[in-house]
Amino acid sequence: MLRRALLAASASSRLRQLITSAPATRAIVDSYVAGETADDAVRVTRALRAAGLLVTLDYLGEDTKDPAQAAAVTDEYIQLIGKLGAEGLTHGGAAEVSVKPTAVGLYLDAGTASRNIGRICAAAREAGTTVTLDAEEFAAIEPTLRIAGELRAGYADLGCVVQSFLRRSEADCRALAGHGSRVRLCKGAYSEPESVAFGSRREVDSSYARCLRALMNGPGYPMLATHDPRLIAITGSLALLTGRAADSFEYQMLYGIRPAEQRRLADTGARVRVYVPYGGDWYAYLVRRLAERPANLAFFLRSLGGRS
Ligand SMILES: Cc1cc2nc3c(=O)[nH]c(=O)nc-3n(C[C@H](O)[C@H](O)[C@H](O)COP(=O)(O)OP(=O)(O)OC[C@H]3O[C@@H](n4cnc5c(N)ncnc54)[C@H](O)[C@@H]3O)c2cc1C
Repeated sequence: MLRRALLAASASSRLRQLITSAPATRAIVDSYVAGETADDAVRVTRALRAAGLLVTLDYLGEDTKDPAQAAAVTDEYIQLIGKLGAEGLTHGGAAEVSVKPTAVGLYLDAGTASRNIGRICAAAREAGTTVTLDAEEFAAIEPTLRIAGELRAGYADLGCVVQSFLRRSEADCRALAGHGSRVRLCKGAYSEPESVAFGSRREVDSSYARCLRALMNGPGYPMLATHDPRLIAITGSLALLTGRAADSFEYQMLYGIRPAEQRRLADTGARVRVYVPYGGDWYAYLVRRLAERPANLAFFLRSLGGRS
């Protein structure tokens, strides 16, 4: 309920002003975001790679309404991939990038977004790595999957994301679980009406388990993005049951969330990728992280009241 209210209110300029200017905000942002610049992102990537973790980098920002801004975001990704490649961090896909289609022009027109994503895919291929298209609000899902389908003709390793909170997702998993496909499965960080989304945690988790089974039973490369201990345990059991090799799927978690669990899984020989956001436009990302963890929100609200 609180989560829904916070996500719904996140577009309010008063809330943005309150959150971005609160004293407690900087510390929370620093725990979830690698820094403001590509050099910060490369530095964090270097450290995670040294710890045996894989990385996907997200240049923060979304919902671009300006073609010049969409082009600038595209250029930022291409420069970032160049910097990572120059240090050998992209080798074998060790560090890749996650792109939000609305940040590179999806709401301007699909052609612009598709061309921009294609440019990022070309740079990634040149550097020996891959691109994954994040899943955003419901209105962006169908156009994103359409663009991914088209670009996959040239870039078969272009990854997609399925959000288990959407009612359509089990069918999407079955459609996407083809040979060689890279599919990230997450619960979903947006708020949508019950006509398209499951309303309760229990339903979202059951849907995740069904989607997980579809992906693990298929011939593709599943990327299981969750911090949920139960779903992580189910993934391990399914890998055993389906006879999946440790290098045929990966766990994914967000930078700053359950780092000990990231290391524990990597120490078992599993592939673990950390999603690392960077850049100055962190507001929407931060609100989603606050919304999904009551403890974070409580800490934050107490500090607004000057009590921590
Ligand atoms: C690698 C990655 C990529 C993602 N990409 C997308 C995407 O493209 N589109 C999209 O809609 N969503 C994306 N998400 C977000 C996802 O949809 C969820 O909102 C988020 O992961 C929380 O769900 P959970 O599966 O971790 O389970 P939850 O039930 O929310 O959490 C399980 C446990 O994880 C820990 N935890 C979870 N969140 C936090 C937090 N903020 N702070 C501290 N601890 C926490 C807590 O211990 C909690 O009990 C991504 C998540 C990951 C890990």
